[in-house]
Amino acid sequence: MPFRTEFRFRPYHDARGERLPNPEPRQIYGPVHSIGPLTVCAYLVATPDGLVVVDTGYESDGELLPDNIRKLGFEPRDIRLILLTHWHWDHIGGAARLAELSGAPVMVHELDAGIVESGSYRGERKTPPVGVARRLKDGDAIERGGVAFRTIHAPGQSAGEVVFLAEVDGPDGPCRVLFAGDATGFKHSVKGLDELGYPGVCADYRRAVKTLEALEFDLYLGGHPHQVFNEMREDGNPFVTREEYRRMLSERHRLMEEFVARHPRYLEW
Ligand SMILES: [Zn+2]
Repeated sequence: MPFRTEFRFRPYHDARGERLPNPEPRQIYGPVHSIGPLTVCAYLVATPDGLVVVDTGYESDGELLPDNIRKLGFEPRDIRLILLTHWHWDHIGGAARLAELSGAPVMVHELDAGIVESGSYRGERKTPPVGVARRLKDGDAIERGGVAFRTIHAPGQSAGEVVFLAEVDGPDGPCRVLFAGDATGFKHSVKGLDELGYPGVCADYRRAVKTLEALEFDLYLGGHPHQVFNEMREDGNPFVTREEYRRMLSERHRLMEEFVARHPRYLEW
């Protein structure tokens, strides 16, 4: 039986080009919920042993996320774990507030942990600093309430970008959820790469594409809604097929290779 959900990732603008308000928090499938603002994703997994949050939006979402958790009938103080896919400030900005409300440990890959802890990048303050309780490595599985989140290192967007793979139960049976962050992306612009690239970024990304291609999952929960409604399924249904996912990945990879062919200096970086 196929997995069903009423949830849809929605475009950011209406037909007249007006920006839409933040969406209401919603259940996606079983214990998995969407709690993020309009353009960046944050997820809540409600386990019998408390709540797990994956990514936390911008600093300005510090109150939106706890409010959304309450709207769903949960309490922010019951958060037991905060997982971050990568250090970029649109994904970690709300972590300090959620950690303060709950005392939950924050976990991120070891290569991104320093930036999360300082809240600063290249000497510039970007986001509220937050302590990292555990520096993750590829293959680490973090379990809460019977749900194990497997860490898979897929760098390119940042040196410590990871995806988390977890199996949850829901009305249509057990479902493999990929919390994909922005791992499919490459900053294919001179400005983007100069700002957020790092030594070895091209080799990292090529390896990450292979890692991501091999993943088996049912539910795609990325870092931004447009990853689904723009690139995989116009209807925004997060149950993308393997074909839709692999097509998106190869298109992303093609854009990266085209970019570095035009700007080969990044290959030697
Ligand atoms: Zn992002």
